[in-house]
Amino acid sequence: MAARLGIVGAGIAGLAAGLACRQLGIDFQLFDAAEDPLAGGTGITLWPNALCALSELGMRNFVDVVASNAMTNGGIATDRGAVLYSLPLAWIRRQYGYFPVCVRRDVLQRRMYEALDEPKIVRAQVHRVLTSKDGAVVVGSHGQLWYDAVIIADGIHSQARNCLYPVQPRPTHYTAWRGMTHGAVVDPATMWEYWGLGVRFGYASVSPQSTYWFATVNQSHLRDGDSWTVARTLLERFPPPVQACIAATADSDILHHRVQDLPPGCPMAMGHIALMGDAAHAITPNLGFGGALAIEDAAVWLEVVRDAGVSPAAFGIYADRRRRRVRQMAYVTRQFGDIMQWQSKGVACLRNALFYMTGPVFGRVMWRRLLGSRSRP
Ligand SMILES: Cc1cc2nc3c(=O)[nH]c(=O)nc-3n(C[C@H](O)[C@H](O)[C@H](O)COP(=O)(O)OP(=O)(O)OC[C@H]3O[C@@H](n4cnc5c(N)ncnc54)[C@H](O)[C@@H]3O)c2cc1C
Repeated sequence: MAARLGIVGAGIAGLAAGLACRQLGIDFQLFDAAEDPLAGGTGITLWPNALCALSELGMRNFVDVVASNAMTNGGIATDRGAVLYSLPLAWIRRQYGYFPVCVRRDVLQRRMYEALDEPKIVRAQVHRVLTSKDGAVVVGSHGQLWYDAVIIADGIHSQARNCLYPVQPRPTHYTAWRGMTHGAVVDPATMWEYWGLGVRFGYASVSPQSTYWFATVNQSHLRDGDSWTVARTLLERFPPPVQACIAATADSDILHHRVQDLPPGCPMAMGHIALMGDAAHAITPNLGFGGALAIEDAAVWLEVVRDAGVSPAAFGIYADRRRRRVRQMAYVTRQFGDIMQWQSKGVACLRNALFYMTGPVFGRVMWRRLLGSRSRP
């Protein structure tokens, strides 16, 4: 396809957009402000919707390799280890073609980049993107460059989006830590989450030698003292795998994040500009679907542009096709997060009892919604 695109951001969304361009034979240029945008981070869970979309974007080989380390056992338990819900992983595999997997984020990003034939990423702070009758221009520390169209994919704090549609992230009342262990500390192919009172811990096996984990703690627990020290103390009563994960991670390797999302409703296309990933619809990380949505964006954009070409009309169709899905996911993940962080003992006990009783009945309805209609074998 004879067009030249600019892609702002070389995170998961920008790289996925590049993969879509590659599938279409469209020439593109990536911009990123970071020194090495492919490095860093810990682990990331990829559910079947992400794996299906990656396959559509030309990464079938990668998907087949990571699928060999799939999660075949997992669920949700209380902070004392009583099982509340077993994930229907065999059912998910049957319905959607894959078990979920957990991979190192830098490995995912590097493989995506390699699949693009390792293009040069222009190191530049992009200040704004302007659309005109014939195309769009990327303005930043590199100067100004014109393209037939531009994809904005520079994350939740996107400067380019804010110039077109100013919006501030919404904070939550909890904060998160993430880490990756050195050495085998949990059973391979397992993913579990433990719910306490305003404290939550989850892990997923990345390989027999490493485990990705996260902890989320309500701010109200953290008023005094160094917050990770306080969080660690709160986690001491959690089951042994939690202690094992923390003990096998150097403090200096633990990342701390504010948990926030974008209010739903951000436009996903404006003239010759399309938005993808967190720049358009950052969701809370509670269910581990933000990266998956970014990859889905690119797969849908690929489908639409393949039929309708690079044009404002095609970008409008793309935005229409994504609107409902990303809005629903923002709502569901935020609501779930609030419920999972309930701190009052009585309310949390009631939640646990309800979850235990209704999970097997309503769980599959929820999974259908989360995994969406694009996942297929
Ligand atoms: C704690 C936590 C856990 C998560 N766990 C999961 C999970 O298990 N599974 C899952 O699917 N998702 C998960 N997510 C969500 C996922 O990480 C994000 O949705 C995903 O990384 C978004 O990718 P992105 O490319 O849109 O944005 P980003 O990853 O933020 O990438 C944006 C890129 O743009 C660059 N950039 C920023 N500003 C500029 C600028 N002005 N000019 C040029 N470049 C710029 C940045 O350097 C960066 O490389 C999690 C998120 C968090 C916070």
